[in-house]
Amino acid sequence: MGTCIYCGKPAGIFRKKHRECAEKRDQGWNEIIRLAKEAAIGTYPLEDVTNRSAAIAANSFLSSNEIREAMVTGWEKAVEHFLEDGNLEPQEEIRLVAFAEHFELTQEDLDKNGAYTQFVKGLVLRDLMEGKIPERFRPIGHLPFNFQRKEKLIWAFNDVKYYEDRTRRRYTGGSRGVSIRIAKGVYYRVGSFRGHPIETTERIHVDTGILAVTTKHLYFYGPRKSFRIRFDKIVSFTPYSDAIGIQRDAATAKPQFFVTGDGWFTYNLLVNLSNLEN
Ligand SMILES: [Zn+2]
Repeated sequence: MGTCIYCGKPAGIFRKKHRECAEKRDQGWNEIIRLAKEAAIGTYPLEDVTNRSAAIAANSFLSSNEIREAMVTGWEKAVEHFLEDGNLEPQEEIRLVAFAEHFELTQEDLDKNGAYTQFVKGLVLRDLMEGKIPERFRPIGHLPFNFQRKEKLIWAFNDVKYYEDRTRRRYTGGSRGVSIRIAKGVYYRVGSFRGHPIETTERIHVDTGILAVTTKHLYFYGPRKSFRIRFDKIVSFTPYSDAIGIQRDAATAKPQFFVTGDGWFTYNLLVNLSNLEN
């Protein structure tokens, strides 16, 4: 006979749990998460969360550790909810901070799945839209860039794949022509003129490294390549779901791509920053 991991009563041969107990547990878990999310959003009173979730937990075999985990998940869902419109309002920030403080959730707790980083990204973009220089990013360790005086670091991305588009040109035609008789005695050799270049564009993975964004430049540093680009030398930004494409203002400049994993943020960050600089 096995015993149920939830209620501790006999569960039957080869069984670790009662189906009803597992269902009860899942229901309670989801209910506490919903409660936490609502409290973090501000539609459920924060001061009622502890008692209410303890009552639910007692009925659904949930430990106090699991309640805490559910609080973190609720906070993550609230961030997602607030960022759905791409904008984190001051009131929304206040609620998220109040919730985290109330339950003494640390940055580390909240960033397990990257939600805290998303939250800070929302604040950075809000600063920029309000015409302020964000001062919210603190790199861990030393960045390998030689920033200019008066230049401020806004953000840095790790493990960024850098791609370049390269065009290859080859000519068709040459000697392998076909002769067509057009009029009596006149032949026209098709394809004898080497005038049709065929262009193929290849996207090449050049390097992987750090992409830093400052008030004036975009910096890239990798084992094979490092460079910086001034914002006012960039003609266009192209957003992708996980990357940004840029085109520099030079006749020979090839499109460049940086895969940061978060195209929405990278695009909004760069476009707003270059607007701010102009
Ligand atoms: Zn059971």
